Amino acid sequence: MPTSDFTAKLLEMEDMIISDLTSSNTEIHIHFSLPRKVSTCPHCHGLTDQIHDYRTSIIKDLPLMGKQTFLHYRKRRYHCPHCGKHFYEPFPFAAKHCRTTTRLLFYVIYLLSERQSLRSVARLLRLSDSSIFHRLKDIRFPKPDNLPSVLSIDEFKGNAGGEKFQAILTRPDKHCLFDILPSRSQLSLRQYLQSFKNKKEVRFIVMDMNRVYRDLARDYFPNATIIIDKFHVIRYVTWALENVRKRIQKQLHPEKRKYFKRSRKLLLTHKSKLKEESIDALAVMLSQSEDLAAAYHLKELFYDFMGSTSRTEAIDKLKFFLLAAQASQLKEFHACLTMLGNWSNYILNAFDCPYTNGFTEGTNNAIKVIKRNAFGYRNFENFRNRIFLSLT
Ligand SMILES: [Zn+2]
Repeated sequence: MPTSDFTAKLLEMEDMIISDLTSSNTEIHIHFSLPRKVSTCPHCHGLTDQIHDYRTSIIKDLPLMGKQTFLHYRKRRYHCPHCGKHFYEPFPFAAKHCRTTTRLLFYVIYLLSERQSLRSVARLLRLSDSSIFHRLKDIRFPKPDNLPSVLSIDEFKGNAGGEKFQAILTRPDKHCLFDILPSRSQLSLRQYLQSFKNKKEVRFIVMDMNRVYRDLARDYFPNATIIIDKFHVIRYVTWALENVRKRIQKQLHPEKRKYFKRSRKLLLTHKSKLKEESIDALAVMLSQSEDLAAAYHLKELFYDFMGSTSRTEAIDKLKFFLLAAQASQLKEFHACLTMLGNWSNYILNAFDCPYTNGFTEGTNNAIKVIKRNAFGYRNFENFRNRIFLSLT
């Protein structure tokens, strides 16, 4: 095989006629044309190989040897003797009027999907931000046809398309994104969910404590078990404990405040995970106030409940916690008790099955990175595309 054939093979330009290749420290220029052949006229479908003229267009390609690479494509126009019209030969490397090759665009998409920022991709490949944006618009991720059997619903602050919050739907069992909606509003979610024909096939729906989502699930998914992600529930207890601690600390004689160093960490860590010296420090802290000791005890009871390995165990432990919290008469735990009164059935469902909102939350964090790496998305579709590109 002559060397030039190897070059053509390397460049994936085997069926093209390379006429020149120049190279500087920073740039490579490849000049080529396509072989002349009988072509079909797009206007009348007649056949012709008569040449009308040539025009050279410069197309940006993937970098070679770390250098910016340009294709100088001498494109041929055929003349059709049947209808008298002219047409360009078909060219496989780039879309019509596009000044970047398709393979360069695929590389852009690949880099973006690796969560590189749009700006850094543009800089690396020396493309303009706007040209990348423009290309992103060409990519479409259509709305899925069917709902999955396990669905998680949540929201994130995307500030896209004039809406502050967007809704996110994922499949917690498969660890994949299902869809992103322009708004988390009840109306927009209803319109979206209504259109699916297999709503009865949804068996589990995971969510945070959100009345809108709960009502939607009740209305649309008659066969679904609603699951409240239990890790969100813990916050209510830690807030309550923190509020008791703050109240006590404020009332304390300044001299005694030294016992409250690192208090947050000492109080919130699971007791079984504390080292001996920390347990001593904790004991001193708790001895300062009966309320604080009671609140701490409640927190430990609640952690114990959260660690239940079955629904039956969870029901018993929750009852125990509720009795103790009511008996304590700590006003800081009121919100927690109200929450449990409203949601405990759904929270208990979490102990029967392995689904959580963990994947959704991970996705929301990944979206935050995408958002930070972009200039903000005024257009929701661009934002949605970008998320799908990165996360699927
Ligand atoms: Zn023709």
